[in-house]
Amino acid sequence: MPTTGRFAPSPSGPLHFGSLVAALASYCQARSQQGQWLLRIEDVDTPRVVSGSDQQILRDLEAFGFTWDGPVLYQSDQFEQYRFYLETLLARGDCYGCECSRRILREQGARSGPLGQIYPGNCRRKKLPPAGNSIRLNTAAANTVSFVDQVYGEFELNLPESVGDFVLRRADNIFAYHLAVVVDDELQGVDEVVRGADLLENTCLHIFLQQKLGFASPRYMHIPLVNNAQGVKLSKQTGANPIDHRHASRQLLAALSHLEQSPDVELQHASPEEVLDWAISHWKPGSIPALPAASVETFGA
Ligand code: GLU
Repeated sequence: MPTTGRFAPSPSGPLHFGSLVAALASYCQARSQQGQWLLRIEDVDTPRVVSGSDQQILRDLEAFGFTWDGPVLYQSDQFEQYRFYLETLLARGDCYGCECSRRILREQGARSGPLGQIYPGNCRRKKLPPAGNSIRLNTAAANTVSFVDQVYGEFELNLPESVGDFVLRRADNIFAYHLAVVVDDELQGVDEVVRGADLLENTCLHIFLQQKLGFASPRYMHIPLVNNAQGVKLSKQTGANPIDHRHASRQLLAALSHLEQSPDVELQHASPEEVLDWAISHWKPGSIPALPAASVETFGA
């Protein structure tokens, strides 16, 4: 069966070089297997949405020669689905209401793990109502969750020790990224996820949640992040430059170099569509380096 991949940008600003690398890797991985490539706008965290940036992202992808299959999925249209699965977990006793704020946890001396504060389970037995509280997933029985990443190899995380019970819906009623991404990947039939290596730990949470909901886990491929000259991950928050339509082919070639795909120098003068065709037909996922992160100064800082 052909694979189904996706690119899932958050509309909190324009695409930058790091997001271009993620788009390109997921595109090549899907298209080189004659698979589908879906586009999902991750606007679940509505207060962080920058108005108009979804349209900007679609225009950028088009200008860089990407074509996606089917309609674009917006997470803001999926709230009924997220509610349904959350209620299923609540009804089974897998989730519970929690009244602890970050500040209270900090004052109580909660330890920090790779994903921030480790929740010590204060509210597990309090039987608080979900309304007006955050809703957490009980990870007491999770132990170590492991998976084999196609670039980084065997990866594992002990959820109760390193993360604790994580939030699926915030007290202000915003659904968490973890719930949204797991439900969407399942409902969209995504069977291969390609994304930045900053999400390696998160994948263990997603696999645990998939198991709780009876969903099959997709295959995972995480790709090395792009740092700016100061060694900080490129992101909208750190003010990364937006990708530039005038140099689409050059930026695609730089993204291919970051992924160690050794692009042909002749391609400098090719159109973005030609660069993408070359990238798909020469795609070598085995060459992608399992780096913690690498600096690309040309388009980044
Ligand atoms: N929306 C996330 C981002 O823009 C990507 C999440 C994912 O690919 O699962 O960083």
